[in-house]
Amino acid sequence: MGETATPIHHEATKEVGALTDGFHLVIDALKLNDITTIYNVPGIPITDLGRSMQAAGMRVLSFRHEQNAGYAAAIAGFLTQKPGICLTVSAPGFLNGLTALAHATTNCFPMILISGSSEREIVDLQQGDYEEMDQLAMAKPLCKAAYRVLRAEDIGIGVARAIRAAVSGRPGGVYLDLPAKILAQVMEAEAGAKSLVKVIDAAPRQLPAPESIARALEVLKKAQRPLIILGKGAAYAQADDDIRALVEKSGMPYLPMSMAKGLLPDTHPQSASAARSLVLRESDVVMLIGARLNWLLSHGKGNTWGDQPKQFVQVDIEPKEMDSNVPIVAPVVGDIGSCVQALLAGMGEHWTAPPAAWIDAISTQVETNVTRMAPRLQNKQMPMDYHGALGALRTIIQERPEAILVNEGANALDFARSIIDMYKPRKRLDVGTWNLPVCVVVFNNGGIYRGTGVNPGGGADVATTVFVKDARYDKIMEAFGGVGVHVTSPEALSRAVNAAMDSGKPTLVNAVIDPKAGTESGRIGNLNPQSIVSRNNRL
Ligand code: ADP
Repeated sequence: MGETATPIHHEATKEVGALTDGFHLVIDALKLNDITTIYNVPGIPITDLGRSMQAAGMRVLSFRHEQNAGYAAAIAGFLTQKPGICLTVSAPGFLNGLTALAHATTNCFPMILISGSSEREIVDLQQGDYEEMDQLAMAKPLCKAAYRVLRAEDIGIGVARAIRAAVSGRPGGVYLDLPAKILAQVMEAEAGAKSLVKVIDAAPRQLPAPESIARALEVLKKAQRPLIILGKGAAYAQADDDIRALVEKSGMPYLPMSMAKGLLPDTHPQSASAARSLVLRESDVVMLIGARLNWLLSHGKGNTWGDQPKQFVQVDIEPKEMDSNVPIVAPVVGDIGSCVQALLAGMGEHWTAPPAAWIDAISTQVETNVTRMAPRLQNKQMPMDYHGALGALRTIIQERPEAILVNEGANALDFARSIIDMYKPRKRLDVGTWNLPVCVVVFNNGGIYRGTGVNPGGGADVATTVFVKDARYDKIMEAFGGVGVHVTSPEALSRAVNAAMDSGKPTLVNAVIDPKAGTESGRIGNLNPQSIVSRNNRL
């Protein structure tokens, strides 16, 4: 019998290999690339993706609105140099997330918006699927790259492409479309594992051409009134020590853009922040490091920049940024870390500091402005004005330099930028998101810009810029189990914020500001055109 025994039939007895599915391939692809935090709003078809992510040990932070989740993802990207992942449902959730995707792209923050979507066969024939929408087409103009995965075995390569697109070169927002069907698609676990891609060197260094460094140094050497402007690209690059070494070795005054504040402490002797108008107007050579000559810098021309002829040196990873607004005499294209190192090396041991007359003129102006500001920051006026209230917060940041300051608004934004000194890199986020433990201070002036508007039509409705008078935002925080505090003086504001930071409890401080304090649109009123008719009616 032995010899004639039935041969083992391999096919019939072969163990069915372990299986995986689209959900787990997404998780494994992200984890393989060290991405373990997700900013999420659950719903069809990604509810189970979030759940499975949590089960797989990832940190999944759920929000009430996709825009907030997306902002959180984008700013996490800025702070960590890893793409922040925002996960949303199809159509409406996706559309909410788009605002954040556009924001990330505009601000050069690496972020990936992953949205579930409906089935292609039905969407493309417009047959009325659940939440039917051509999400890929909509996302494209608002991001750096947009991809759609149509087969589970392509999830690995899709995630890899999204990661590389988000962080390489100029960072930005990337869209990754995952139709519901592929999430549930099943494949052999072994083949699935093989389909994953670990991205090697996702943001390769980009060395500047040596001749571009030589050209830049020639221009800087001849400068009589040089100025360095540090932007948020410099903060993103995490080349803090080299940037500080470059500024100090050059002896040049520098201006930090708001999210570059703290790269060098704002109290640094070379900081020209308190003489901003003077240095922009009078400088003859300006070196931009990770800052664009966009509207925030008046496009490099006009009154802000005065009549002095200027030469611009620009350090940026994006070649297309050069000559975007004014001619750049010395473009240095590369990653900021490599560019700054090359500039430092090229400066050698005996770099000559800028003429004393220029440095002295700036110091004098700084002193005058700081002295003029000091009593205003101490004022105890009630209701509080911006200076009194921000004076209190300024001291808190001085004592707690590790705190992250998130700033929004018009007047509150402008004033905080110039009043609150920052001491550490990447601790100031403009108009960004919030992380718990968090202390929110609402500068409550009862309106937008000012709380004193009057309905010109005379109807029962309040003016368009007026909110509910005496609203108690602190009560909202109480309703959610946090601490709400209502304050009307700088001392009480200071006490409330210190208590919040000591306790770590989520706190909202309703800081009552004089509705008459501040101006329309803060310092950018020029961007808000005024109608001749309504102006005349108001007179
Ligand atoms: P700010 O608003 O602070 O002036 P911008 O957002 O205008 O800053 O400019 C940031 C610039 O930094 C962008 O042009 C971007 O291409 C550049 N950038 C971002 N990361 C890097 C990097 N690692 N190396 C070089 N340039 C970078």
